[in-house]
Amino acid sequence: MTPGSPKLEKVDPAHGAIKQSDVAGACQGMTRCEYAILTYKYGEDRKALRPVYFRLYDVAYKLAAREGWQVPEGRDYVARMVKLAVHDLCDPNVCVMCRGNGAIGHVHCEVCDGKGRKRPSDMDRARFIGMNRAGFSRIWKGRYEAIYQAGANIESRGLEKLARNMR
Ligand SMILES: [Zn+2]
Repeated sequence: MTPGSPKLEKVDPAHGAIKQSDVAGACQGMTRCEYAILTYKYGEDRKALRPVYFRLYDVAYKLAAREGWQVPEGRDYVARMVKLAVHDLCDPNVCVMCRGNGAIGHVHCEVCDGKGRKRPSDMDRARFIGMNRAGFSRIWKGRYEAIYQAGANIESRGLEKLARNMR
């Protein structure tokens, strides 16, 4: 896996053409993670995503150790980036701050202006992780994209298997 500049777009040309019943019937040979992403995205079962979180935590903490990421005391940048990556992968059009509710508790969500729908900008991503925009762009964006890309690769491999099994 190479941290590059993956597009933060969904990489699923088949989206919209696949029904949950197709997924259930065509998942032979998939790993738990591949199956989980497809089950969530096409079947909307949020609990299904647990193995994906675990896999991406593993990817992220290994990267952090290898590259010596410096996380300020009391911050959980790595875990927040994993949550963000799963969000960007599976719910790219939903506001990341309020998770589509339009409010956080009783407070109007400023990020999406209460609409609940908004593709996160880098500013929103920085805010969600709990850092400033400059630090995100300068240091953390590439790291975040590596985590996101690991998730996108799982989905791509699952979709390849799905396409093969449905032939
Ligand atoms: Zn919002």
